[in-house]
Amino acid sequence: MRKKLLVGNWKMNKTPSEAKAFALGCKDMVDYAVAHGIDVGVGPTFVCLAAVKENAPKDLIVAAQNCHFKPNGAYTGEISIPMLKEIGISWVILGHSERREYNGETSKVCNEKIKALLAADMTPLYCCGESLETFEKGETKAWVKTQIEEGFEGLTAEEAKKIVVAYEPIWAIGTGKSATKEIAEDTIAFIRGVLRDHFGAAAEEIRILYGGSVKPGNVREYMSQPDIDGALVGGASLELDSYKGLIEGLVG
Ligand code: PEP
Repeated sequence: MRKKLLVGNWKMNKTPSEAKAFALGCKDMVDYAVAHGIDVGVGPTFVCLAAVKENAPKDLIVAAQNCHFKPNGAYTGEISIPMLKEIGISWVILGHSERREYNGETSKVCNEKIKALLAADMTPLYCCGESLETFEKGETKAWVKTQIEEGFEGLTAEEAKKIVVAYEPIWAIGTGKSATKEIAEDTIAFIRGVLRDHFGAAAEEIRILYGGSVKPGNVREYMSQPDIDGALVGGASLELDSYKGLIEGLVG
């Protein structure tokens, strides 16, 4: 039985004091989620990670939005896994479409990062998803298959189980134009099939989230689908009221 999961991707939003206010205000809703067997988390910017980690309830997962795969060195502007680990961060979002588009993050680089995170006993949240053009050409499945295969390249089934996947069609991110629950389920079930082909029964344990204009008003639809284990949410995760609405939607 896969545990439901909600992760808020804060992108380049919130200053440290704003992030701290969210962390201090989310205790009751995190307790409520935990009481219902749901994992919940947020992905603040690097400069907000410590403020959230120090002020949030311990059950709130705090994820970085990126990391480097090397432990240290001449990589100006980068953040390493040991740096994150030392401040108590154990999850990292990888391969978000915005980082793929603006920062040249490829699935092959994500694979290096995934291996480094797993070696550090941390959890990668690996994103995949197609552009509108790819969707309209009917090539979504071939596209995400490549992203999944390159991201998971060289892993054992035991390692694969520790990864969380997010399927986020780019045309649905921040556009208000969410994928229907049928489209989301169809692609996510396909992704699970690709994982099954490579890792056998371990695929049933891998959590796969949907992301793309998820709101408190539509999250229940996605959660009604058998292969969708939760949501990766941008805009609607920024305010406490809306975040609470998302948690309530996951509860059912
Ligand atoms: C995201 O950033 O991962 C995302 C899904 O954004 P939004 O919920 O705003 O579409």
